[in-house]
Amino acid sequence: MKSRWNDEDASSLEGNLLAQRVYTSRLLGADEDLVLHGGGNTSVKITEKDLFGDEQEILYVKGSGWDLGTIEEAGFAPVKLATLLRLAELDDLSDLDMVKNQRMAMTNPSAPNPSVETILHGLIPYTFVDHTHADAVVTITNTPSGEDRIKEIYGPNMLIVPYVMPGFILARTIYLMTRDVDWDSLEGMILMNHGVFTFDHDARRSYEKMINIVSQAEDYIASKNLGAPAPSAPDPATPAQIAGIRKAVSEGFGKPILIKRNTSPEAVGFSKLAYAKSLTSLGPLTPDHIIRTKRVPAFIDGPIERILGEYADAYSSYFEQYNQGETKLDQAPRWAILPGQGSLSFGPSTKHVRIIEDITAHTMQALYRSEQMEKWQALPQSDLFEVEYWSLEQAKLKRAAAPKEMQGKIALVTGAAGGIGKACVEALVKNGCVVGALDIDPAIETAFSQSEVLGIVCDVTNDQQLKDAVEATVLQFGGLDYVVANAGIFPKSAHIADMQAENWDLSMNINVTSQQRLFTFAVPYLELGFDPSIVIIGSKNVPAPGPGAAAYSVAKAGLTQLGRVAAMELGPKNIRVNIVHPNAVYDTAIWTDEVLQQRAAHYGLTVEEYKTNNMLKTEITSHHVAELAVTMLGSAFSKITGAQVPIDGGNDRVI
Ligand code: ZN
Repeated sequence: MKSRWNDEDASSLEGNLLAQRVYTSRLLGADEDLVLHGGGNTSVKITEKDLFGDEQEILYVKGSGWDLGTIEEAGFAPVKLATLLRLAELDDLSDLDMVKNQRMAMTNPSAPNPSVETILHGLIPYTFVDHTHADAVVTITNTPSGEDRIKEIYGPNMLIVPYVMPGFILARTIYLMTRDVDWDSLEGMILMNHGVFTFDHDARRSYEKMINIVSQAEDYIASKNLGAPAPSAPDPATPAQIAGIRKAVSEGFGKPILIKRNTSPEAVGFSKLAYAKSLTSLGPLTPDHIIRTKRVPAFIDGPIERILGEYADAYSSYFEQYNQGETKLDQAPRWAILPGQGSLSFGPSTKHVRIIEDITAHTMQALYRSEQMEKWQALPQSDLFEVEYWSLEQAKLKRAAAPKEMQGKIALVTGAAGGIGKACVEALVKNGCVVGALDIDPAIETAFSQSEVLGIVCDVTNDQQLKDAVEATVLQFGGLDYVVANAGIFPKSAHIADMQAENWDLSMNINVTSQQRLFTFAVPYLELGFDPSIVIIGSKNVPAPGPGAAAYSVAKAGLTQLGRVAAMELGPKNIRVNIVHPNAVYDTAIWTDEVLQQRAAHYGLTVEEYKTNNMLKTEITSHHVAELAVTMLGSAFSKITGAQVPIDGGNDRVI
C-alpha cells in the first residue's frame, strides 16, 4: 500500500487543521482496501474560542452518513472534548444516552451526528486520529492465532485490543487499558476482528502510520504465498434462473429487489471452491458489514425455494437464541454464492447492490486468504447479533425514508431514445424504477448516464435482437416487472388507393408485429415479476381515425386489439395490460414539421391551432403521456386491466 500524500495538494492547507483533516480523510477513503462505503472514521482536535472568548478544545470527528472518500469540512461534527473525557469515566452508559450526550456537547447543532467512536477518538491524546477497517489486518486477526501473528508482525509497541462491541464499551475498554500506558511508545492500535487506529500531532504522519501498518500486514500476507482462487470464466447464466431467484428473494424481503451479478474471474473462482459453502457460513469480515450483508450469504446449490427456506429457518433460530426483546428483521439474504457463476447481491436500488458487491468482493478475498493462512475464524454469533440488532442501528432503520413507489422494480421501454419513450424512462427512474431502454438509435447507449438505466441498441423488428435485449435487461437487474410498448413510426400519409406496399408493411412490422414479439419474449419474465404490468402506447387514431393515415391507424388498431387479447390471456397470470391513446403530442420524432403541416392543413387549421385543438385548448407533451403511462403501470391501476385511456385534452370525436 502506497501513501497518496501529495506535497503540492497539501501545501495550501498549511495551518488549517480541519482542511488537513479533510485532505487525509479523503486519501484514506480513496483506498478500498482500507475503508468501504462509510466505514472507518477520523478526527482532529482544535482549540477554539467560543462566543465569550473562552478557549475550549473541540474534537472534530466524522459525522454519521458521511463517507471518508468524499467528506467535506461540513461532514465533521464539533464536540467539546472535556465532555467526552468525562463520559469515558462513567462505568456504564447506554449507546442511546451516549449519542444524546455527544449531541448535547456539540458546538454546532446543525452538524451531523458524531461517529459512534467519538469518545474513543477523544481519549487518544493526539491532534489527528485515523481509523480504518483495513482488509489485510482483519484477514490476519480473523484466524485462530491472529493475536500471535499481530504480535509477530508489529512487536511490543502496538496496543492490541481484544474484540468488544463498538461504541461506549470499546471506548471504556481502551480507557481502562491505557490509563498507565505511555502513548508516545505506541505506534498504533490494532482492534481484533475490527481494524486499526493511528495517531499523531501531524496529519501526514498519522496518515502515513496507517499506510505503514497496513503495508506490514499486506507484506506478511504476501510472504505466505497464499495465492488466490483460480480465476475462472462464469458458467452461462440463464435469465430465467436469475428472474426466479429474484422472485423468491423479493418475497423474503416483502418488496421487489434488484440483483447485481458479480461474474468477475475472482468471484467465479471463489464460487467454484469446494469449501466455499462452509467458508461463507461463518460470518462477515468485520461486524459493521452485517448491517449491509447480514451474517452469511445464501449458497444456491439447489432449488431456490428450498435454499431460502433453510436460510430463513437458520436466521430464525439465530434470532431466537440471542434476542432480548428486539424486533426481528426480515429473513432474506443480502447476497448469495451461485456456484460456477460468482456471487449475487440483493437490494432495493442500484446503489445498495453496488455497495453489497464491493463489500462481498473484499470479503471473499479475505476469507480465502485467512483460510489459506490458517483457518478463517469469524466472531461468535452472539457478538455479531449484538451489532446486527444494535439499538443505534435499529434506530437508523426506523428513520429511513419511505421508499419510492417503484423502488426495486424493473421496467423495459422500447423506442426510448426520444419523445414519449424517453419521457417514460425518466418518469420511471423518478419513481424508483430501473429501466432497460431500447432504441434502434445507437445514441441510446449513452443517452442516460445514471446507473438505473441500461441503454440497449435494438431493432425491434429483429426478433433475435429483441429477445437478446429482453434477456440483457433481466441479467442486468434481475428480472422484469413492467413493459412500456412504445416503439412506433408514423409512415408517410397516403390514401389507400395510392398506398405504397413498403410503407404499409413497415408500419405493420414496427407498430404491431414487433409488439407481439416483445410480449412473447417478455411474458415469461413478467410471470416472475412483482405486480407486473404492461402499458401500450396506442393512438387517438384508434377511436378516431383520419383519412390518409390508414397504415398508421390500422396498425395501432391492431396493436390495441393485441392489448385487449393480452389482457384476457394474461389476467389469470396477474399481469395487467392497459392502453394509452395519446393525441397531439408534438415533441416526438414522428411529428416532423412536414407531417405536422400536412395534418394541420387537412383540418384547415394553422399548426398552432392544430396543437391545441381540443376541449381543454391545451398542449400535451411527452412528459404528460409518460406520467399517465407510469401511473397506469403502478398501484393506482392495480385493479384495472384492458382499459383504454385517451390523453388528448378532450377530443369531440373520442368523447
Ligand atoms: Zn471501526
